[in-house]
Amino acid sequence: MTGELLSLAKRFHLSVISHGKFVPSHSDLGGEDYLLELLRAEANARDKRARAERAKQARLPTFKDFKHFDCDFQKAVTREQLSTLERLEWLDNAFNLVLIGPPGTGKTHIALAVANKAVDEGYKVFFATMDSLMHILKTQEISPKSASRVRWINKCDLLVIDEVGYLPVSKTEANLFFSLVSALYEKSSLVITSNKGFSAWDELLGDSVLATALLDRLTHRCQVLNLDGDGWRLANRKHIF
Ligand code: ADP
Ligand code: MG
Repeated sequence: MTGELLSLAKRFHLSVISHGKFVPSHSDLGGEDYLLELLRAEANARDKRARAERAKQARLPTFKDFKHFDCDFQKAVTREQLSTLERLEWLDNAFNLVLIGPPGTGKTHIALAVANKAVDEGYKVFFATMDSLMHILKTQEISPKSASRVRWINKCDLLVIDEVGYLPVSKTEANLFFSLVSALYEKSSLVITSNKGFSAWDELLGDSVLATALLDRLTHRCQVLNLDGDGWRLANRKHIF
C-alpha cells in the first residue's frame, strides 16, 4: 500500500486501512473491486465497534434471549406475542412495554431479551433498576459519570427500568421519574418491570395526581403484559449438593 494511500486513510480515519489490517481476497484484485473490498472491510469494522460501544453503554447485567423463554411455563405470554416483541417494530413507533407480575415470572428475562436484540439491531439502549436510575438522576449535577449516563438516556431509543415498586420511592424520586417519563414520551420506548399493578402506583409514588399523569403518558402507546403463575426460580431451584 502506498504512502499516500496510508496517509489519506489516516486523515479520513479509515482504521482498517491505516492499521494495515486490510487483506484483499485476491492479490490481483483491481480497480472498483479492490475499492469495494476495502470499503466493506472498513464498514464491517465500524459496525463492530459501534455495536461494542452500544453494548457497553447499555449496561445489561446478563444475557437473556427470546429463544430460551419457555411459554409453556409462563402461559400469560404466547410465542406469537414474543415474536412480535422480538421484531422490534414497536420501538420505531416509540411504544412502551410494561411487564407486571410477582417475582420469578420472567419480567426481567423478557426485558433483557428485548434490550439485547435492540443492541444487536443498532438501537441505543440503557438498562437500569429503578433504584440505580434514581441514583443516576439525583447525582447528575455532582457526578460526571451520572451526567454522561443521563445524556445517553436522553439519546436512547429504549430505556429499560427494572424493578419499579420493590423499593419505596421518595417525593423527589417520584418527581424525577415523572419528568423522565414525560421527557421520553413519544420519543423513545420504555420497558418497565414491576411487581405492582397500576392501581398500586398512587401509593408507590405517594401522589395520585402525579401517578395519574405519569400513567397517562406511559400507557398511551403501550403493551401491558400481566405475568402470573409460579416463579421460575422456585420451580427450578438449584443446589450445590
Ligand atoms: P422476574 O424479573 O419476574 O423476577 P426473572 O425474569 O429474573 O424474573 O426470572 C428469574 C429466572 O428465571 C431468570 O433466570 C429467568 O431467565 C428464568 N425464567 C423466568 N421465567 C422463565 C421462562 N418462562 N422461561 C425460561 N426462563 C425463565
Ligand atoms: Mg426481575
